[in-house]
Amino acid sequence: MAVVLAPAARGRAEGGDCHLVDPQGRALRYLRLSVTDRCNLRCRYCMGAAGLDWVPRAEILTWEELEQVVRVAVGLGVRKVRITGGEPFVRRGTIDFLARIRRLPGLERLVVTTNGVGLAGRVGRLAAIPVDGVNLSLDALDRDRFLQMSRRDRLADCLATLDALLAAGLTVKVNAVVVAGMNEAEIVPLAELARFLPIEVRFIEAMPFGGDGVRHTGWPASRILAHLRGHLPPLTELGATGTAMRYQAAGFRGQVGIIAGESRAFCSTCDRLRVTARGEVKSCLYGEASGWLLPRLRSGASDGELAELLRGAVAHRHADGRASEGARRNRLVVSMAAIGG
Ligand code: SAM
Ligand code: SF4
Repeated sequence: MAVVLAPAARGRAEGGDCHLVDPQGRALRYLRLSVTDRCNLRCRYCMGAAGLDWVPRAEILTWEELEQVVRVAVGLGVRKVRITGGEPFVRRGTIDFLARIRRLPGLERLVVTTNGVGLAGRVGRLAAIPVDGVNLSLDALDRDRFLQMSRRDRLADCLATLDALLAAGLTVKVNAVVVAGMNEAEIVPLAELARFLPIEVRFIEAMPFGGDGVRHTGWPASRILAHLRGHLPPLTELGATGTAMRYQAAGFRGQVGIIAGESRAFCSTCDRLRVTARGEVKSCLYGEASGWLLPRLRSGASDGELAELLRGAVAHRHADGRASEGARRNRLVVSMAAIGG
C-alpha cells in the first residue's frame, strides 16, 4: 500500500495545490475532454473515408457525467480545460455545456478545438460564454487541397468561422497538420495569415493517429522551421508555450508556431490529461488508457471515488511518449478523433 501511495504523496509535495502529479513530479493541470468521436470531416491523417467505428451513443458520457468529470478534475487542481472531439460541435448541447462548466469555481481557462465547419453562426454564443480561446484546424487555403485532405468541400465554412471568431474578438490559433505529399505548398500561405491577422498559426508534425498505424515522415519540425525561415521575413524565436515553439516574423501582426508532436519534444513538461468521449483516461497520447470512468460514473461514483480513479490513472505515468508507446500491449492503430486530439 505504501508503495502505491508514494507517487501521489510525493506529487502533492511537488505539485502545490495540484493533486494530479505523476511519478516524475509533473503536475497535470490541463484536461483535454472529448465530447464525441464523431465528425463532419474525414481528414486523411485522422480517419478513413468511412469514418470510424463510432462509439454507440449510449457509451458516450452524458453531459452530466462530463460535468462531474470536469468538476472533480478542477477540484484536483486542473486549471485549464479544452473541449475537443471528434468535432465537438456536431454534438447537440456542446455550447450549453461550455456555459455550464465556465461557472465552475477554480477553472481558469476554458478553450475549444474545432474544425469550424458549421460554427460561424454560433460564434456569438461562444463569445458570450465566454471561452478563452479557440483553436481552429485549417490545413489548406486552396479549396481543392482542403477537399483532398478532409474529403469534404467545406473550406468556405471553415473560413467563415475564422472571420466570425475574429470579429467576435476571440483569441484564435490556427492549427495545420503538415502531411508530406498533401499540403506542404500550404505552409507559406497559411503562415502568411499571421501577417495581417492577430492570430498564431501553428504547424503540427503529423502523428501516427490516422487509425491505420501509418507513420507520416517527411515534415519534421526542423524541416518546417527551415521552410518558414526560407520563405518568411526573419523569424525571432519567442520560446515555447505548452507544446508549441513560437516565432515572430518581422512585420507580422500575429505569430507562427511549430508543434513537434511526433518528435515528442515537450514530454518533460507535459501537463495534459485526456478523457475520451467514452470515459477512458489517458495520461499520454501515445499510451493506452490508464483508467475507465464510464462504469464507475454509471454506478453512481461519488466525486471522491472519481478523484481516486483520476489520481490512480496518473500514478504510473511514463516518463515520455516513447516509453508510453513502448509499453503498449496493442499496436498504435488509433484515430486522433477517438483519443480527443
Ligand atoms: N475536429 C476538431 C479539429 O479537427 O480541430 C477537434 C478534434 S481533432 C482530433 C484535434 C486536433 O488533432 C486537430 O488540430 C487535428 O488537426 C489534430 N490531428 C488529428 N489527427 C492528427 C494526426 N494524425 N497528427 C497530428 N495531428 C492530428
Ligand atoms: Fe474530424 Fe478533427 Fe479528425 Fe479532421 S482532425 S477528421 S476535423 S476529428
